[in-house]
Amino acid sequence: MSKQIFLDLQGIVHPSNVRMNEPLHQYTFTKTGGKADFFVMPKNYQEVQAIYIYALNNHLPLTIVGNGSNMIIKDGGIRGIVMTLIDIASMELDGNKLTVQSGAAIIQASRFALQNSLTGLEFACGIPGSVGGALYMNAGAYGGEVSDVLQEALVITRSGELQTLKKDELDLGYRSSRFSKEKLLVLEATFLLRKGEYEEIKSKMDDFTFQRESKQPLEFPSCGSVFKRPPGHFAGKLIQDSGLQGKQIGGAQVSTKHAGFIVNVDSATATDYLELIQYVQDTVKRKFDVELETEVKIIGED
Ligand SMILES: Cc1cc2nc3c(=O)[nH]c(=O)nc-3n(C[C@H](O)[C@H](O)[C@H](O)COP(=O)(O)OP(=O)(O)OC[C@H]3O[C@@H](n4cnc5c(N)ncnc54)[C@H](O)[C@@H]3O)c2cc1C
Repeated sequence: MSKQIFLDLQGIVHPSNVRMNEPLHQYTFTKTGGKADFFVMPKNYQEVQAIYIYALNNHLPLTIVGNGSNMIIKDGGIRGIVMTLIDIASMELDGNKLTVQSGAAIIQASRFALQNSLTGLEFACGIPGSVGGALYMNAGAYGGEVSDVLQEALVITRSGELQTLKKDELDLGYRSSRFSKEKLLVLEATFLLRKGEYEEIKSKMDDFTFQRESKQPLEFPSCGSVFKRPPGHFAGKLIQDSGLQGKQIGGAQVSTKHAGFIVNVDSATATDYLELIQYVQDTVKRKFDVELETEVKIIGED
């Protein structure tokens, strides 16, 4: 059965772009995670759609990995097909409209906007995700977020059709979207930007980069802020006030630089991460009666 799936997938994408039992830690920012049964790297939308329909028709689970900067893949790996769109990453500018394929890094889109003196994507200059992941998460920083500039998205619907959805149809909220609720696959995004002054845009981006580098433990692997901001609180402050900075389980540690981050300081496993997340949640609940909900997506098998 496995061999047949492997051969079928090799009939859809170039054979060298299909792998079996592919270790996934190399695709995640935490450097943790088990293996994918099947791993595919399509090169165009037709291949993405064909894989989507193949998975649907064969009742195989399909998981999308973007840049892997907001996910913890469990040590048991992922059953079924894992697809990455990182090879589908071109950008096109039409006046003030920037259309970007979902595998492109949102940082690249932000830089491209700067090169063209377009304002609106400065907030994204240090978010290490793909455009697809940024839409799925409605990523944001320093007062801006995807929903501020997104005009529309090309998606694959649950039945496997290509459809363009306007921003109003995407239900973009705090780190949530219709993509996450309905498991829509993002193929491309069109951002509506405004003409600006190159120097002003650059200085804003330099300032955000400075703030990020001075506050975040970028020298270690991590998945960024592990928890969502609970209403009326800041997750990092609650964790700090619980005395958890430096708390370590296995190779995973609550960052001493930014309490909202859990860093991989010593060959951490996903299990180390998950145990430490639980420990932080339990401690904060006990001390402050606040439930911390994870922002990071936890996927795969134990
Ligand atoms: C150092 C660091 C700093 C960070 N700073 C920020 C920040 O300031 N603001 C912020 O919002 N986030 C931040 N993050 C988190 C992360 O970069 C964002 O959430 C980003 O948008 C995730 O994109 P990704 O491509 O890495 O997604 P992944 O981690 O690969 O995936 C996240 C989710 O999106 C889904 N997904 C990915 N691509 C697609 C697609 N094409 N179609 C459908 N679903 C898809 C995945 O299945 C998964 O459920 C930070 C992370 C790190 C490591």
